[in-house]
Order: sequence, then C-alpha cells, then structure tokens
Amino acid sequence: MVVFVSLFMIGLNGVFAQPKVEASLPEMNLQKAEVEMHMRFLASDELMGRRTTEQGNNTAARYIAEQFRYYGLKQVEGADGFYQKIPFENKMPPKEGSLSWGPTTYEQGKNMVILAGDTMDTEAEVVFANFGWVDEEKGIDDYKDLDVKGKIVVTLSGLPDTQEPGAVFGSMKDKRKLAEEHGAIAMVELYKLSFPWQFFKNYFGRARVDIASDSEAGGPGIPYIWLKEETPDAAMKLKGGQKVSFKIKSKGFNSQSLPSQNVIAMIEGTDPVLKNEYILCTAHYDHVGTGKKGGGAFTEEDSIFNGARDNAMGVISMLSAAKSIATKPTKRSVIFIAFTAEEMGLLGSGYYAEHPLIPLNKTVLNLNTDGAGYDDKTAYSVIGYDRVGLVNEFDKAAATFGLKVIPDPAPEQNLFDRSDNVNFAIKGIPAPTVSPGTTGFSDEIGKYYHQNIDNPESIDFDYLLTYCKVYAHLARLIADKAETPKWKAGDKYEAAGKALYEKK
Ligand SMILES: [Zn+2]
Repeated sequence: MVVFVSLFMIGLNGVFAQPKVEASLPEMNLQKAEVEMHMRFLASDELMGRRTTEQGNNTAARYIAEQFRYYGLKQVEGADGFYQKIPFENKMPPKEGSLSWGPTTYEQGKNMVILAGDTMDTEAEVVFANFGWVDEEKGIDDYKDLDVKGKIVVTLSGLPDTQEPGAVFGSMKDKRKLAEEHGAIAMVELYKLSFPWQFFKNYFGRARVDIASDSEAGGPGIPYIWLKEETPDAAMKLKGGQKVSFKIKSKGFNSQSLPSQNVIAMIEGTDPVLKNEYILCTAHYDHVGTGKKGGGAFTEEDSIFNGARDNAMGVISMLSAAKSIATKPTKRSVIFIAFTAEEMGLLGSGYYAEHPLIPLNKTVLNLNTDGAGYDDKTAYSVIGYDRVGLVNEFDKAAATFGLKVIPDPAPEQNLFDRSDNVNFAIKGIPAPTVSPGTTGFSDEIGKYYHQNIDNPESIDFDYLLTYCKVYAHLARLIADKAETPKWKAGDKYEAAGKALYEKK
C-alpha cells in the first residue's frame, strides 16, 4: 500500500506537479559560471573588504549598478543613476579638551569624552536638568520651570525609566537636541551606566563614520560632553541650588565628508492593480575592510576580510533575482537595493527607510538576504518564518530546488532585529531575512564569520547557485502571490504595519 501510494504520488507529480512552467522560469536556468564570476569579483582581494567609504566598496557598488543596467532594470525616480548617494562623514573628536569644576579638572580621553560640538572656551553657569528629557505622553518635562538660556545643562545619564544601553545610546542625539532647543550653550552628562566607563570612552571617543546631519553626535552645534564622576554626589550638589559654574575648553570636531551609496533599481509589475505594490529585495554589499579595521584576527599574508559569505552571497542572490525577474517580470513591481554600511550599524538601510524613493506605504514587503555563512547545504534559513504570512512560499521555494527550510535558527540571538530588515520592520513593513542554511552559531559558522578566510576559495559554488535560485524563485512567488503579505496577528511590529498601510 505504502509503495503503491508513493508510486502513485510520484506518477502524479511527474504528470502534473513538476510542471513545464517552472522549468521555463529564468531562475531555473541560472548558471554556476555566472554566480561564481560575481563571487570571485565581489569577494576578491582587490576589493579590500568593501569597507564603506573606501575604494573597494565604491567599486563593488559600480559592479552592482552595471549588472542592473545590463539586465535592463529601470532607474528609480529621485536616484542619481542607479545610486542613492549618502553623505557620510568621518567624525574626528578633538584630541584636547577640559572641563573645570571648582578644584577638579576633567580631561578629554581620561575622565571626559567630548561627543559632539563646535569649538568652545567659556566659563558659564550650570543648570541641573535631571535626565534632560521631555516625553509629553508620559508627562515628563525635565525643562519645566528651568531657564537654561546661555547656560550649561547638566543631566544624569540615561532616561527617566530606563538605563538599558540600547535606549540610552538611542536617546543621546535627542537629549542634545533638547538642550540646544532650550537655549543651552553646552550639555554635560554624568556617567552612571552599568557598563564600564572604559568601554564607553573607547567606543565614543574615537573617530567614526556616520551620516552627516546637524543634530547627530559628532556634528556641529553645542558641545556634548560626558563626565566620569569625580565629585562625590555630584548630582546632589548641583540640585542643591547653589551657583556652580563650569569652565569648558574644546577644540571642536573635525569632519571629513566621505560619500557612499546604496545601489537601487526597479522592475515594473505586469498586473494593472498589483503593480502599485512594491516588493523590496535587499542585500548589504559592504563588509569590514582590512587589518585592524576588520576587527578580527589577521596575518601579514592575509589581512583582507573578503566577506564572501557576509554578504557577497546575499548580493549575488539579489542580482540573480533581478536578472530572473527582469527576464520574466512579476505581477507586483520589485525594487532591488544593495545597501552600504550595514557593518557600521545598518546605516545604508536606515538612510533609505528615512529617505525612501518609493513611498513606504506602497512597499508591501522587504525580502532581505544576509547571512553569516552556512553549515547545512541541504537547507536555507528563514528569519521571521511564520511572522509574515509566507510559510507556503518559503517552503515551496526550497522544495522546488530540493532544499529544506530551517526556520529561525538561533532564536536566542534575536537575528530578526540585527540585519537591515529591522529598519523596515520598525516602519511597519513585513521584513523577513533569508540566509544560506544556518542551524545556529555553530563552529562552522564561527570559523568564517567576520574572518579573513571568508573568501571565494572556500565557497561551494554549487550550493551558491542553489541558494541564488531559491532566493530568486522566492521573490517571484511573493511578487506574484494573490494576497499581500502582512504581519501575523500579535506580532510586535503589527501595530506599526497597520499605522503605515492605513495611510494609503
Ligand atoms: Zn557582517
């Protein structure tokens, strides 16, 4: 009976299910030689680890743009050719600076970190403003009844209701902006976080690449300073109401503009209605560069972090989808973006999410492809597998090429919120990430992740080809699907999704 049933099934499959239609789709005919060529170029030593704002990164961008052109993709209105240019800056903190408070002197790089601001050499009165925070919904206004005009605002570090590092760092720009808006001439925070001062000082005290903008840390404007408390009960003393003044000296920030770019193109949909919905296929093309900047161990013979798996593999899968869908377009329109500066904190995708070239409420899904590597070549992994109503498509894309799906590997790592897709999820756009077959942070993954041996010579090109076919086919299945993807009920991003798409 069992044998009969399975033979019967095979027979049925042979006649009906393994259809000629699928064999005729362009992604079925992607060639190993082509994906191998992309890999050998994008992860070559000559591209020097594709670090954002360096030449190798720009060369990779050019290569991707010229593939888009060759495949016949359209340029997106508002882009500069196939580029979305991003004004990055290298922000260099002043080497010298000091703050005097009575007999105590704080020094830049020791017990003081200057995070932003112009040159200053002034003594001025200090006003203590609790956390320096305003949140109308929660009834918080730390500036109420305070006159800080022309004065130095001093605050506690963190926020009234949290000292969690992510929230603290995320609020820094806003806190400085609030002080500036209220007329303060400088903003000083008293360091009281649970992680070591040394870590904070090293991280924020060095030159860093960030997007240029007036209100950001490192930008021009009022000096923004953190102090490691040397005065016992400093906050209590300042609260006490007696007049205190600080003398601040800072040489100000130097910044050097370093342009980089996202690479963007699109294919118009064929369905008169569905073409107004856009699927956003994305992969970051930057990596970490060479030597010390790369962050991992390296040798004199090999100091290049080639980033073959992370994320040339994702870029090539995205290019494969672009080529396949350009050859046989889908019902929905599809946007392709290769992001820069993922490795610097998801900056390229963040920039696009804030400056979208196609309205976000017409963008119905972000299908991101990014990964640390692979340790299971019989599978591919999906992060956010059952969160966006696409389980059938994820399964079908895999089965079509003989793979299985590994749903949400390493849940403890919260991978969903750690790649470019999260910038779209926050805006409400359903945004899964697919990766090469990963079971979790295994030894095999760790061996290559951000290491100098993540190079083309160690790639299984047959598996690369299969992964590219799966991603391209998956993009097609979703772009042709009758129903629009949406967040699963109760998902933490569901409310953001409703708010976004109600604006239609
Ligand atoms: Zn990475």
